[in-house]
Amino acid sequence: MHQRCNLACDYCYVYELADQSWRDRPRVISPALWRAAARRIGEHAARHDLPHVRVTLHGGEPLLAGVTTLAQIAADLRAAVPCPVTVGLQTNGTALSAATLAALAEAEISVAVSLDGVGHDKHRRFPSGDGSFRAVSAALSLLCTSSAYAGLLCVIDPSSDPVATYESLIEWQPPAIDFLLPHANWASPPSPGCGAWLASVFDRWYDAPRRETSVRLFEDLMSLLLGGPGRSEQAGLAPVSVAVIETDGSLEQVDALKSAYSGAASTGLSVLTSSLDDLLLHPGMVARQIGPAALAPSCLACPVASVCGAGHYAHRYRPGSGFRHPTVYCEDMFLLIGHIRRRLASSLSVAL
Ligand code: SF4
Repeated sequence: MHQRCNLACDYCYVYELADQSWRDRPRVISPALWRAAARRIGEHAARHDLPHVRVTLHGGEPLLAGVTTLAQIAADLRAAVPCPVTVGLQTNGTALSAATLAALAEAEISVAVSLDGVGHDKHRRFPSGDGSFRAVSAALSLLCTSSAYAGLLCVIDPSSDPVATYESLIEWQPPAIDFLLPHANWASPPSPGCGAWLASVFDRWYDAPRRETSVRLFEDLMSLLLGGPGRSEQAGLAPVSVAVIETDGSLEQVDALKSAYSGAASTGLSVLTSSLDDLLLHPGMVARQIGPAALAPSCLACPVASVCGAGHYAHRYRPGSGFRHPTVYCEDMFLLIGHIRRRLASSLSVAL
């Protein structure tokens, strides 16, 4: 929706890592391009008889596009698509006023906020260097009583206290929390300890006397361990079902690939000239439709391959040889999946 942001988070894959394509793109998507995008989504939904489509309005910071624009985009999407469209907004929360929230709720746009918990101000700062937590917490005070509240997105920091982080997030009563591994690859390895960090959060979440919130990564790993489907980009072998449309109309692969190298997400396609089915034929998308056939030999031999699926595609990248590698978080995924497997097996008194 908008290529700029009012924060300068140090781990941001749009501005701080390998890809800098935002510099050459329009600040805001134009009406002609969002209507072309809506027509492409509608065409795809009709051709494949989709029961439902989910669109996330993303940035940069999407609220910088203005709530009137976002509401019009949601209306145009719903008019162009022949099935129900869930429209969500992923925001840093700093510009979320009561009036903005009311307008988003009126437009049936749900709102998810990026919040890192106790360590929030370490990474999520304004360009001045000031932390953004105070501004975000003002927004969350409004959001947590709103029907538009979709949840929180937290990038984990293994140097923070995992249980304190989780507990600082659930203070805001989120319907769901997405924990994301910081983007890294074999050329830019992550800090150690993410697997143990997540295992500690899992225990705190799993052992709560009542279900406090949904944690997508944990629920996905539990589902996959029990033979069910997964929804996460971070685990499993399900075909990818995400396309990104940029402010210049470019059709791209999942934007987290921008963390790997400059142009990693690009396909050369545009909503003006190509369908979403054309995007499915791009080699990067094909590699993410073919399940185990895209895995490295070490993953094919791994006992948790059907659950881990080599992890997030962006985290498999190694310069010179591409993406046919285990995730750089291999040890963390193996530890976390083994931990959840043991906890589930113990709870259910079955071998998993
Ligand atoms: S745990 Fe490691 S070896 Fe096993 S599937 Fe995941 S990335 Fe591959």
